Amino acid sequence: MTKKTFLTKDKAEEIAAKYGTPYHVYDEAGIRGNAEEVKKAFSWNKGFKEYFAVKATPNPFILKIFMDYGFGCDCSSMAELKMAYAAGFAGDDIMFSSNDTPAEEYEYASKIGALINFDDITMIPYYLENVGELPDTVCCRYNPGGTFSLSNGIMDNPGDSKYGMTKDQMEEAFRLLKDHGVKHFGIHAFLASNTVTDEYYPKLAGQLFELALELKDKCGTDISFINLSGGVGIPYSPDQEPNHIDRIGAGVKEVYEHLLVPKGMDGIKIFTEMGRFMMGPYGALVTRAIHEKHIHKEYIGVDACAANLMRPAMYGAYHHITVLGKESGVADHKYDVTGSLCENNDKFAVDRMLPEIEMGDLIYIHDTGAHGSAMGYNYNGRLWCPEVLLHEDGSFSLIRRAQTLADYFATFDCFPEYSNMDRV
Ligand SMILES: *Cc1c(COP(=O)(O)O)cnc(C)c1O
Repeated sequence: MTKKTFLTKDKAEEIAAKYGTPYHVYDEAGIRGNAEEVKKAFSWNKGFKEYFAVKATPNPFILKIFMDYGFGCDCSSMAELKMAYAAGFAGDDIMFSSNDTPAEEYEYASKIGALINFDDITMIPYYLENVGELPDTVCCRYNPGGTFSLSNGIMDNPGDSKYGMTKDQMEEAFRLLKDHGVKHFGIHAFLASNTVTDEYYPKLAGQLFELALELKDKCGTDISFINLSGGVGIPYSPDQEPNHIDRIGAGVKEVYEHLLVPKGMDGIKIFTEMGRFMMGPYGALVTRAIHEKHIHKEYIGVDACAANLMRPAMYGAYHHITVLGKESGVADHKYDVTGSLCENNDKFAVDRMLPEIEMGDLIYIHDTGAHGSAMGYNYNGRLWCPEVLLHEDGSFSLIRRAQTLADYFATFDCFPEYSNMDRV
């Protein structure tokens, strides 16, 4: 089974010559092509907006690409709010879908006019007490409990998830918000993650549309949007069938026309907060093979580690690997591909069949465009690698430099003997 790379070996070497290895690289042509398709799939809905989930790929240069399509940003922390604002987003182009939120983050979100999405009913008095007056439009996050199933089985377990409010709390929250002058309402839910099926959004939309009708009836509130959040997945493994965003958009349209239009609610806007689907396939981690080790198993040591891509270590997630320049080679060698952390789960692949790897080969780890660099950390004093954007004309630019040891030690800056690296 093969998977296409968006980078040739020559291009990868050209980038490596300039910025070293490892690096995360993003494919602007792929990002734009997909954004176009997302926009088209929901163009039937006048108010449609994708709020890109900043946490997936927190980089202003990526956010700015999405601005070209009229998209917004979905933020959940102070850093994400500030990054979105610095990139030029403000007002209702920012959705603040946070949880366990500190007062100062609500305050800042309110200052820049972001749409507030309350994760819990207790957040409403907390907001009133700490921030003040509520905006005209407010969203609430719903959690129906139980399990969430599609035709291929149970997808996720909302009953076990910390997010959102029960149905009764949604009703109570809407009444409370209305009493405090809120005029327009949104409903949000995120019930399953990385769904690789076209059924997820339409099924979720059906549940949320029914809830909207019920809340409108019971509370007499104006529902202005339904936020389907994230959860649309990508095929990490080459044998998975990818999602078809056109069919997903058409599926949501069908439910919309069936449930909302007959009730005269055909002005409701559809919002999404996709991260993985917008970026996952359009990023790769490129790393060089620097060691081989032959003990009870065959190991290839690369110059990236789990600090650059945590998903395999954290979730046992599969990421496809291509040995650049050996795309058509026979995969007749079985390897564990490892990083250098003193943690045995620091393996990008276990028992993976690959063409024979020679020292110096460039290893292309697929589908790291979302939740890849973003989940970087500094365990073992390992540093963040650079992020590079490959443009449509084949040129490329650095969109975030590598972290340096000086950055790593900078937070000892009140102790110059430990923060000033010129000494050692
Ligand atoms: C993580 C997250 C998203 C994005 O999820 P993806 O699976 O990457 O699409 C959207 N909204 C919220 C509130 C999230 O926490």
